[in-house]
Amino acid sequence: MKQLSLIIASALALVLLAALPAADLGGVIVKLEAHQGPATVVARPLEPFKIQIAVDPKTETKPLLIRVELPNSGQRAWPAADVEVHNAQGKALMVRRTGTEWFKMLIPVPAVAGNYFVQAVQPSGGKTAPPSDKERVLADGVTGLRLGIAKWHDGRKAALSIRFDDSHPTQLTKAVPILREHGFRGTFMLNPGASEPGNRRRSDFETHQAGWEAVARQGDHEFANHSAHHRGATGDQDMEAEIGGAAQAIWKLAPGRSKLMALNLGGGTKWETTRTLRYYLDKFHQFDASENSTGMDDSYGNRVANFRRLLEQHLERGLWCRIHYHYIGEGLSSSEANFRAALDIAKEHQASLWIAGMADIHKYQAERNASKLTLVKSDPKRLTFHLTCLTDAALYDQPLTLEIMHAQSLDAGRIEIKNAHGKAISSRTGKAEGAAVLRFEVPPRDGMYSLEMTP
Ligand SMILES: [Zn+2]
Repeated sequence: MKQLSLIIASALALVLLAALPAADLGGVIVKLEAHQGPATVVARPLEPFKIQIAVDPKTETKPLLIRVELPNSGQRAWPAADVEVHNAQGKALMVRRTGTEWFKMLIPVPAVAGNYFVQAVQPSGGKTAPPSDKERVLADGVTGLRLGIAKWHDGRKAALSIRFDDSHPTQLTKAVPILREHGFRGTFMLNPGASEPGNRRRSDFETHQAGWEAVARQGDHEFANHSAHHRGATGDQDMEAEIGGAAQAIWKLAPGRSKLMALNLGGGTKWETTRTLRYYLDKFHQFDASENSTGMDDSYGNRVANFRRLLEQHLERGLWCRIHYHYIGEGLSSSEANFRAALDIAKEHQASLWIAGMADIHKYQAERNASKLTLVKSDPKRLTFHLTCLTDAALYDQPLTLEIMHAQSLDAGRIEIKNAHGKAISSRTGKAEGAAVLRFEVPPRDGMYSLEMTP
């Protein structure tokens, strides 16, 4: 019997193998770019997030260009920021990418038969498994209290970031004052590089530096990295200067604050490096913010109605809605009227929407994902719990919102919240799914808290 089932199993395996295409690359596309000729590339999967590409130039003698496109969404998505390309000797190759599509690569190789390896490398330091969703909720039978970490700041339903690219002067004259009228915080992606020798174009940022410094002093908006010059980079050193140089300039604008900031290398730019994007992100405390954003330029058409729909969908699903603008004003990428109309829509939803900077929102998400609540002890009069938060407190400084729900009813006046030093923490009442909740803010780091029930 055992033998028979083995035979059936191996026959089945053969049938399955025959049914597969030559090599299932899990959605990865590998081909020669703009190519006519006898040369071939053959790719095969080696392990998760690692493929081998065999190049055979046949009779060709000119260098070849291999295009590799990694799936960037869905279950088969690659961690594109961690991908590098090696030759058979293990040497990292120079790879070309565009600023906003890091998952698409062009790999120049000589017309010589050889093997290349495209692979995701483990980020340094490794990863500890984050706490699960269950660990972010604490239900105590003795006090009847239920405690959780709100999905978004202040228990809002969704988050919205409003981004502005290219440090254009109309952002100082239009975007900043109009945002202030609405009481909204914008994220300004700056190109703070000085004018370059040989480039006639004077840096917009340099010309208007005093204006940006004034915004920094007021502190009501967030700055982010759009690279020093918005021109891409050729080689590791240049890439480091474009990302690191911009980061340094922005840190200088707002000294004494967390160094963490959003990075978007910019549309229409080409970047050549042997390194992973992760290397640059980690080195300069950046996070990749180039994807999943909706462009609000009028040329895309119907922007205001589209934004209303988009925002409602994000509110429905409790997600982070990201939009971005370029220049604001008549005849520019977005008219002032359309800009104002979109902000007015955001204003309508303000009570359930957290409108914040991209780093604020990114921090909250990362901190919450790295946090859990543990019951220390409880009796009918007092509950003591511990918050564990694994993020780096020097970079991640966005307070977390905790929510207390009571099994029966919540009498806010009856619960006093104290930190480990016995200092009272202020709280406010609100509603979550129709029930009363008590909300309070805590710093995103390990700490002990107690909830005291007064009669
Ligand atoms: Zn740009």
